[in-house]
Amino acid sequence: MKTETILLHYGYKSDNNKSQAIPIYQTSSYRFDSIKDAYDLFTLNKQGNIYTRINNPTVGVLEERLAAMHNAKSALVVSSGQAAILYSILNLASFKDNIVSSKYLYGGTYNLFKYTLKRIGIETRFAQTNNITDFEKLIDNHTKAVYIESIGNPTNKIADFIRLSAMAHNNNIPLIVDNTVSPIIFNPFDFGADIIVYSLTKFISGNGTSIGGAIVEKGDFDWSNLKFNNEFSFDKSYHGLSYIKKFKNSGVFTAKARLQLLRDIGACISPFNAFLILLGLETLPLRIEKHCKNALKVARFLSNRPKVSWTNHLSLPNHPDRDLADKYFKKGFGSIIGFGVNGGFEKAKAFVESLKLIIHLANIGDARSLIIHPASTTHSQLTKEELKKAQIGEDFLRLSVGIEHVDDIIDDLNQSLEKI
Ligand SMILES: *Cc1c(COP(=O)(O)O)cnc(C)c1O
Repeated sequence: MKTETILLHYGYKSDNNKSQAIPIYQTSSYRFDSIKDAYDLFTLNKQGNIYTRINNPTVGVLEERLAAMHNAKSALVVSSGQAAILYSILNLASFKDNIVSSKYLYGGTYNLFKYTLKRIGIETRFAQTNNITDFEKLIDNHTKAVYIESIGNPTNKIADFIRLSAMAHNNNIPLIVDNTVSPIIFNPFDFGADIIVYSLTKFISGNGTSIGGAIVEKGDFDWSNLKFNNEFSFDKSYHGLSYIKKFKNSGVFTAKARLQLLRDIGACISPFNAFLILLGLETLPLRIEKHCKNALKVARFLSNRPKVSWTNHLSLPNHPDRDLADKYFKKGFGSIIGFGVNGGFEKAKAFVESLKLIIHLANIGDARSLIIHPASTTHSQLTKEELKKAQIGEDFLRLSVGIEHVDDIIDDLNQSLEKI
């Protein structure tokens, strides 16, 4: 099946009641047939539902669709994008390990890497640029992953993914890509990534109702390599279970994240949120196409306005990653646009407050157009120095272009520009 079809049909036929819609299994737990049945489930002698922290049939359909749409082995859905990112790291790194990351990150990811992971002894080394050599020189024997966002939030920086993944693989470590801003238009697995993480809250849901996250596993990374010791081949908490042996056909990485991390840390998604995200996923291919088309026009409009000091979108001729963008983003450049208005913070503030249609809030990827001032909100926990490093100035506005009629979006931007 092609992606559009997968997102409508895959992983669910019907239940006993012939329900067309995917049922919401709003249950905490599942009945056992017998003591033997319970024992077999707990010892993983057979697979089945025990408790919704670890498995749920509604969530399971979402997991199957996410895996299938990426032509991947498996997926694990959790309570938020942040939980997905945390689990993707905890699943492979322990105390005294490190990861090497791009510095162009979502603010929440930056805080997680820089401060919270550090408290539990996992260091993040930030590459100075997205050049491969700047990543490679930070790798040592304790480095467990290379981490990057498909299109860096919010500066739209990208990397040479094929070369970055080859470098990671030469060092026996996986490449993890946060693909939150470019589902459908970019499949990181086609360019060497091993793990994809998502905030499902954004484009995938598209309706602004639910927080959710996912880890998707391509399924061909060799977790038995020495870099990972026995991490994936001996789990004392399951009497020495080898994830590599037991789950080689169904996804080693996600099995371990589910059976260890969801079991112990428990950031599971509610079945109801999974249901709402599934509804969003059905129309994702249509929406993302429209998001990208609208963004092209809006970027061009902004870049031609005298009151706009600069505009950042991968489609614009002055973007520093223009050539890479054409190589990797053949189906669209996403719909996040950065721009500045003349007059700095004061004018940026007046601009946001004069908008009538475009909504001022902390989110991206909603079907509605959204705007935010990152320096005072999503990235406000960064120091002045860090903001400068991440190229987030006081005049920086982040626009998430929605799927309204593009004339209405442009009219709103125009009337607000006239007011300032
Ligand atoms: C929003 C976002 C996250 C965090 O996701 P939540 O669902 O809000 O926890 C991670 N990465 C990127 C790129 C995001 O935009």
